Amino acid sequence: MPECPSCEDEVDELHVVKIHGKKRKLCEDCLEVAQEEAEIAEMSEDAIRDMMGYKGSW
Ligand SMILES: [Zn+2]
Repeated sequence: MPECPSCEDEVDELHVVKIHGKKRKLCEDCLEVAQEEAEIAEMSEDAIRDMMGYKGSW
């Protein structure tokens, strides 16, 4: 059985997920967490960009 490199649990299968352009193999649980973290990171980058953009128009 494959072992998840993140939580070190043995799982039926590992899923390949791309995070920040890097491919990682994770179990289903870690995959969800990693995807959420990646989404939050992208959202906060957008939020910072928006703040910078609005600054000039005030
Ligand atoms: Zn895992």
